[in-house]
Amino acid sequence: MLAAFFKTPGVVELREVERPEPRNGEVLVRVTAAGICGSDVAFFRSKQRDWHRRGHEFAGVVEKVGEGVQRLKRGDLVAGVGSVPCGECSGCARGEPQLCSNVRAAGVGAFAEYVCNGEEFFFKIDGLTGEEGALIEPLTVAMQMVRDAGVGFGSKTLLMGAGPIGLMALNICKASGARAYVSHPTSSRARLEAARGMGADAVFSPNELTQRLLEREPEGVDSAMVTIPPSIGIAQAASVLRVGGTIALIGMEFEPEANLRLDIDRFHFRKLRLIGSNHNPCAPLYPEAARLLREGIVNVEKIVSHRFPLFWIKEAFEFATERRDEVIKVMIVAED
Ligand SMILES: [Zn+2]
Ligand SMILES: [Zn+2]
Repeated sequence: MLAAFFKTPGVVELREVERPEPRNGEVLVRVTAAGICGSDVAFFRSKQRDWHRRGHEFAGVVEKVGEGVQRLKRGDLVAGVGSVPCGECSGCARGEPQLCSNVRAAGVGAFAEYVCNGEEFFFKIDGLTGEEGALIEPLTVAMQMVRDAGVGFGSKTLLMGAGPIGLMALNICKASGARAYVSHPTSSRARLEAARGMGADAVFSPNELTQRLLEREPEGVDSAMVTIPPSIGIAQAASVLRVGGTIALIGMEFEPEANLRLDIDRFHFRKLRLIGSNHNPCAPLYPEAARLLREGIVNVEKIVSHRFPLFWIKEAFEFATERRDEVIKVMIVAED
């Protein structure tokens, strides 16, 4: 089978490797769609790392099951599950699997013709397309962030960053009846247009954000969701929150020195809260994510902006990296 190997920054190679055989409890899936994540793009551009595989947002068709597999059979359409709770730690025992302290990750490697993994790392997606299935994992990132921000009917929230995660969070916020503002650099035309088309109550460029948002919401907003580099995002979010407001943060800055300087007086006197919004383990969120896609609350056609076959993986990554004005999400799709 073909599989993509990365040597970063900037090198991709398609290699012929042996197709894995599913062992006891494992399932072999033919990948039909795999999304390029923002984390993949950031890695591709900046990190120095020797040959490795990537791809963690995907769906496909079960090709073969190993012995002892209970739920799945050949021909089932499945989405890859990024991580599962251990079921045994104190978080799991408290009934809070999202606070599991021993998360089991599926690993990466979906930019390939096949993926083989334990049955628990696949979720059946009856009624969804492969591309919708491949959106479930990033959608759970958005869902966890919206939950952590405490968004609900009538609340006012700010989404910082209109990438796929921010846009899907916007879909959920609007479906919940919240007022949702978006800030994003004007250089990213496609993302700004998408945010407007998805019903953002207003879209601001980052340099006018504080002033223009406070004109509309003089007491500040209830919450902010930060999907941009936190070194910029947190201070700006803190400047537009109401007293007692919440910042939910996806803090992937990819640098060991991603430490911040914060105006702690502001956090103290304004009684602000900062929540690290890691979605892992994401498995418990999959059924609800599938519903959001099935009911059209999140629409794949509005998130996936470009499609490339696996054979063009190099071009796909270069496109996602260089054409920032046009790209929302790039999907690698199987040709058949
Ligand atoms: Zn991702
Ligand atoms: Zn656990």
